[in-house]
Amino acid sequence: MMHVAILGAGTMGHGIAQVSAMAGHDVSLRDIEADIVDDGLTAIESNLEEGIAREKVTESTAEATIDRLKGTTSLEEAVTGADLVVEAVPEEMAIKHETLTAVESHVDPATLIASNTSSLSLTEIASVLDYPERAIGLHFFNPVHIMALVEIVVAEQTSAETIARAREFVNGIDKTPVEVADAPGFASSRLGVSLGVEAMRMVQEGVATPQDIDTAMELGYNHPMGPIELGDVVGLDVRLDILEYLRDELGERFRPPQILKRKVRAGKLGKKSGEGFYVWEDGDIVGTSGEWGDA
Ligand code: NAD
Repeated sequence: MMHVAILGAGTMGHGIAQVSAMAGHDVSLRDIEADIVDDGLTAIESNLEEGIAREKVTESTAEATIDRLKGTTSLEEAVTGADLVVEAVPEEMAIKHETLTAVESHVDPATLIASNTSSLSLTEIASVLDYPERAIGLHFFNPVHIMALVEIVVAEQTSAETIARAREFVNGIDKTPVEVADAPGFASSRLGVSLGVEAMRMVQEGVATPQDIDTAMELGYNHPMGPIELGDVVGLDVRLDILEYLRDELGERFRPPQILKRKVRAGKLGKKSGEGFYVWEDGDIVGTSGEWGDA
């Protein structure tokens, strides 16, 4: 078993810490403030309790998982002696660079350094390292303890040995890896976003209502959630940022539609703001956004 250090105890960090500890690794979970670390650990405990209630997790696994987790605000303490460091700090290149530079000053050259970035260039993230061949992307999905996929993102500098070790880790925590080159949007976001953007264009052109588009994909293609609803859940502002980035990198097929820009400008960001393509109340859809009618 390994010593795994997770940097950032937010949405993704605490989930990665949980699945690593459940698989038997010793885990250090680090964030910049003690309260945030505590919130991360509390979220793990409540996930485990829910798992017990649903008979997916045994009491003894939950206890052993908690025992293997150690929270800290010290980066040095978290990463010293680690076999694998996974950063899940905010999605900003400067913060990624600052974090990885600090990590490298406390670990030996064999330590695997992984980033959970969902969109930044892994090659650019790795460029600050003295030993960049040990850098790799481990792109987990939210919620981490439920979602089975991990995209292994291979930077220009990543060595074959690093890929092999990353695969072994991902398989060992009971997730399924797919390997992708460090290309914009990796595999999952690029395809998922292209489906979402076409669905929005269809609403804009009056081809079908949001509900009918979503129902078509749910029942016709067995998607658990239609592309319009998914956009509302992810956040339309987040969708717009990703589209603008993919358009810069990959071309006009990712051009954000006017309907999306107008909604974001109006503060209609989806589930989190109470309205996007749908109207939301207490986390549930209660109607279609009036602006576009439910024709
Ligand atoms: P988050 O905001 O929930 O968590 C980030 C954590 O990093 C926060 O707890 C914050 O206190 C901490 N932090 C802030 N500044 C820091 C610093 N300078 N050094 C160390 N820690 C710092 O964010 P998140 O949603 O967990 O995203 C983390 C990473 O995971 C991002 O790269 C994001 O793109 C990626 N990601 C997110 C999702 C998702 O659905 N949320 C999915 C896949 C990947």
